[in-house]
Amino acid sequence: MVFPDIIIAIDGWSSTGKSSFAKLIASEFSFLYLDSGALYRAVTLFAMEKGFIAGDEIDEKSLKEELDKGLDLHFEYVDEGSRTFIADRCVEEEIRTLGVSNHVSPIAAIPFVRAFVDEKLHGFGRKGKVVMDGRDIGTAVFPDAQVKIFLTASPQIRAQRRFDELKMKGQDPKMEDVVKNLEERDYIDSHRETNPLRRAADAFVLDNSHMTIKEEVEWVRGLIQGKFGILE
Ligand code: C5P
Repeated sequence: MVFPDIIIAIDGWSSTGKSSFAKLIASEFSFLYLDSGALYRAVTLFAMEKGFIAGDEIDEKSLKEELDKGLDLHFEYVDEGSRTFIADRCVEEEIRTLGVSNHVSPIAAIPFVRAFVDEKLHGFGRKGKVVMDGRDIGTAVFPDAQVKIFLTASPQIRAQRRFDELKMKGQDPKMEDVVKNLEERDYIDSHRETNPLRRAADAFVLDNSHMTIKEEVEWVRGLIQGKFGILE
């Protein structure tokens, strides 16, 4: 099946499996995968390492000065996987720790951080067949995306998925910390002033609580075939 040059925007709650879903779509349909959350995570890691975050306080002035200087954030694609880089340093592992997860939503709520990340995403998204996941892709970053999907799953299933993922990465999380982090991020992401998490009016909702990732990809294949009148 030959796909048209389209943008597929995938938004949804934390730990609904957006990135695994988007990655599989990218590899099955030969699309470029862009993980917008990774950029917010990389900005957060950078701010932590620079000492701009102390408890709940963020030194926004210093962070803005650094971003204005032009922080080099980009992806490199190795063996079909995407890796996040700050300049020439791969930070793919570090940005996935609970430490970064605990600070990322307040950082992502800062308007100048969102403007910085959006500009990068627009640059990357010009490349044709693209699948991008995040919280505001279908509503704000690419409101004209031809296919929009809003992912959801039950809170218990989401927490278990995140817990398993951290374990697999060799971390030793407590379930109560994972649940607390998901609840806090959901709240901040859906209540911030700039581009809060919301379903775009024209997004298809997919509850994947009881679906395998393969079933999800078949679902989206059918959606695209139907929408663009493509026959196998
Ligand atoms: O997708 P992931 O969980 O890695 O995203 C990390 C955080 O980045 C989210 O909790 C959210 O606060 C922020 N984010 C965002 N807008 C996006 C993608 C992620 O605010 N488009």
